Amino acid sequence: MFASLMSFDIKTLLVAVALATTLSAVTRILLWRTHPGIPGLGHWAGASVLGTMALLMIAMRNVVPEWLALSLAQMLIAMGFILMWDGFRRFVGRAPLSRPILMVLIVFAIGLIVASNVLQSLTFRASSNALWIALLSAMVAQELLSAARPREIAMRVSGWLYAISAALFFVRGFAVATGDAIVDPWNPDGLAALLLFWWLCFTMGATLGMVLMASERLQKELDHQASHDPLTGALNRRALLMFAEKELARCRRNGQPLSVLMMDLDYFKAINDHFGHQGGDEFLCRFVSSSQRVLRTEDVFCRFGGEEFLALLPGITSEQGLLVAERIRSAYRSEMENITTLSLPFNATVSIGISQYRPEEEIDDVIRRADTALYQAKANGRNRCELMEFCGAE
Ligand code: GH3
Ligand code: MG
Ligand code: MG
Repeated sequence: MFASLMSFDIKTLLVAVALATTLSAVTRILLWRTHPGIPGLGHWAGASVLGTMALLMIAMRNVVPEWLALSLAQMLIAMGFILMWDGFRRFVGRAPLSRPILMVLIVFAIGLIVASNVLQSLTFRASSNALWIALLSAMVAQELLSAARPREIAMRVSGWLYAISAALFFVRGFAVATGDAIVDPWNPDGLAALLLFWWLCFTMGATLGMVLMASERLQKELDHQASHDPLTGALNRRALLMFAEKELARCRRNGQPLSVLMMDLDYFKAINDHFGHQGGDEFLCRFVSSSQRVLRTEDVFCRFGGEEFLALLPGITSEQGLLVAERIRSAYRSEMENITTLSLPFNATVSIGISQYRPEEEIDDVIRRADTALYQAKANGRNRCELMEFCGAE
């Protein structure tokens, strides 16, 4: 493999690397400018600018004193990789690198550069630089691979790209240190050419990965916005109807029961009048959080509209559903007792109607029957739960 790569013209390869690095920097800056709200993108852009500047320094090694050009290049690469790692941590939602870790990394990088100059050893410089790149690439790979969820393919592939890069730079670092490879990056020996070629692919691959990861992130946000209520964070009606079709089909297949709870907050107009619209919003959020605490993960809870909510309880009969409804009702009441110490001219309570799915019914039919039971609960004085099966209205 090395033999075939050796036939690469090293100068052409260098021009290609310079072009790819510059193009990557431009792409990452544009990515950051178009999505300023996604954390980490600015760091990725900054890292690629530092990388481009490092290449410029290496190219200027015959114009300015070599030790200076190479030291600056090494410093820029070191800082670029720190920035890159920090950016990835922010992107995946982890805490930024702490000040002490940043200090240790910076002091260590400066130490390596100073040692390279004191030792006046190109071998030490090349080897420590490669091992530095390997180490930080491995950290990035670890961040991405441990954070990637099953559907985040771009994140997973990018993680592997960094892992392969880390492995190659470890090999490079040790090969140089043990004298098995020629260190001079301008020398077209097998390993140097291979690494330059890899750098060309890696720069483009990593940047493409960043674009795809940002797009994956936006898609996830869009999916969330399309299926959730922005005020309470509960699922919206559209998402409920999608889940309901799946759950109904599953219950039909397995012959399992399924119940629906229709909930409506009592005297909500009075709550709005008393506390203002924002105060009313707070009640809605409190109701959602207190209800979600008593529901199971397989239950589907949604804001059906206004101050009406619906819960779909797979595997639950209406009698069991009545117990769940009672738990929701008392959870909301205790939540309200905790926050409203004042005595109110009305009760901040909830009324709930329950119905059980019958074979061959559609989802709209079960919901309609739960709504009838809810109407009954309101008629019977509110702050209560009614079972459709016990309502005379059926
Ligand atoms: P009942 O006990 O019969 O259910 O009485 P109610 O006052 O709750 O009845 P109604 O359904 O007529 O009133 C619902 C109110 O909920 C009217 C509407 O202004 C308010 N509302 C709907 N959506 C929101 C919202 O997002 N935020 C706030 N604060 N109020 C909302
Ligand atoms: Mg209502
Ligand atoms: Mg109401």
